[in-house]
Amino acid sequence: MLKKQKVIKIKDSRLREIRLNLRKVLMNTFYDQEATLQAIWLGAEGDEQLSLLRKLEDFQQHYQDSILVCSVCSKLDGDRVYIPRHKCWYCTDCLKKGVIPSLRKMR
Ligand SMILES: [Zn+2]
Repeated sequence: MLKKQKVIKIKDSRLREIRLNLRKVLMNTFYDQEATLQAIWLGAEGDEQLSLLRKLEDFQQHYQDSILVCSVCSKLDGDRVYIPRHKCWYCTDCLKKGVIPSLRKMR
């Protein structure tokens, strides 16, 4: 993962639209995979079910920490900022509003 704070901004409206559409495709893929994992998990028992639950939770956490969605507001569109200490991405709107936990002193 990245070691420094990084902001990714796209100014061109056409490119912003393409980025949003790609995120929607990836989000739908995530939800399809999540549904498959949940079905397998529900059909399992005992230790296997517990192991699958951990995998499912890891999968969901990776999605939440990914660049696809803001880790605070879950917004799909917009520019992103990566905070290495948090190991996740936020939208630049949440950064501007100062709602990202533990960053209030840094602004
Ligand atoms: Zn946000």
